[in-house]
This record gives sequence, structure tokens and C-alpha cells, in this order.
Amino acid sequence: MSAWIGKTAFLLGLVVFVAIRVPHDKRSKETKIAESRKGVLEATLLALMGIGGFLLPLVFIVSPLFSFADYPLRLLPLSGGIVCLGFSFWLFYRSHTDLGANWSNSLELRENHQLVIVGIYKSIRHPMYASIFVYALAQALLLSNWIAGLGCLVAFVLMLVFRLRPEERMMLEKFGQPYQDYMERTKRFIPGFW
Ligand code: SAH
Repeated sequence: MSAWIGKTAFLLGLVVFVAIRVPHDKRSKETKIAESRKGVLEATLLALMGIGGFLLPLVFIVSPLFSFADYPLRLLPLSGGIVCLGFSFWLFYRSHTDLGANWSNSLELRENHQLVIVGIYKSIRHPMYASIFVYALAQALLLSNWIAGLGCLVAFVLMLVFRLRPEERMMLEKFGQPYQDYMERTKRFIPGFW
């Protein structure tokens, strides 16, 4: 029974996450890309995110293909997953709002790209990635299946490993000292800690 609650919560969460992104995606497309560092690796990682965050959960929800990797969903992970979803929505919305037209889903700089160091970006450098991580954690807690549950988390951790340093290098090359100062006074994901 609770497996279905988890699946329903996940599907609703996916819809909310996409709904938060769509208007920002449309708006940022109005600003041209000035520089792109999107290579084969980056494209592969984005595809893996699509598989882990969308395709695998969908297969799990609509077919019995992954049933060999099912386990019972308990109340604690279910409640934890719902709390994580709520928090990820808030953080995702805040970071999108603060980043505005400077957002890209890849390693890109837009025309007249502005360095954002206010709002949620005053506390941490990667609030959007933090929100996606918490969302992926929610997926792992809500979908009681080792394959569909962990898909997004595995893909996103891989993406972070390969994207974080190149992104900070790109920002450093573009903005120089102001970004260096920003790096020195902020942490990546957890204020004052990490
Ligand atoms: N890493 C950030 C942004 C994710 S979106 C976060 O997790 O919140 C990725 C794009 O945002 C990058 O390609 C870069 O162009 C842009 N970006 C990252 N940090 C930025 C900042 N502080 N100000 C403006 N643009 C930024």
C-alpha cells in the first residue's frame, strides 16, 4: 500500500519540479549563449540524469520489470521522502529565482552574464545542485526499489563529480577576483560547513 503512496508522491514531486523549471527555462532561452563548454562528457551526464531521474522511475511505476529489486516501503523513509521533496522545491525555486536569466542546464555563460552572490547565493555557491541532490534523495526514499530509487542519486553524484570543478573554473576565468573572493567566503552546499 505505502509503495503506491511513495510512487504517487514521487510523480507529483516530478510534476512540481518540472513546473518550477519551465518558466525559467523559457526565459533564459531569450538570452543568447555567449560561451559553451558543453562537451561529450557533459551531454552524457545530462542523458544519465534523464535516465536516472525519469526513465527508470517510469519503468518501475508502469511495469513489473524491476520487481526483483523491490523492498517494502516503511513509514519513516516515506515521511522523510516527503519532507525532502518539500525542502527541495523551496531551494530549487529560490535558486532559480535568484539566478534568473543567468541559468543554464549545462556549462554555459550567457550574454551579459551577471555574477549572482545575493539571495540564497549569499549563503552557498551551489544551492540549485543542493536542491537537486535533496530531490534525488527524496526519490531514493519514496521509490522502494533499488534500481529506480537510486537512479537519480547515482547519476547526480556522478554529474557533480565531473561538473563542479569545471564550473567553478569557468566562473573564475569569467569573473576573476570577485568570484575568487566569493569562493573564499562561501561553502559549496552547506553554509559554513561544506
Ligand atoms: N551551480 C549553481 C548554478 C547551477 S546552473 C547552483 O547550483 O546553484 C549552472 C550555470 O549557472 C553555470 O553554467 C553558470 O553559467 C551559472 N552560474 C553558476 N554559479 C553562478 C553564479 N554565482 N552567478 C551567476 N551564474 C552562475
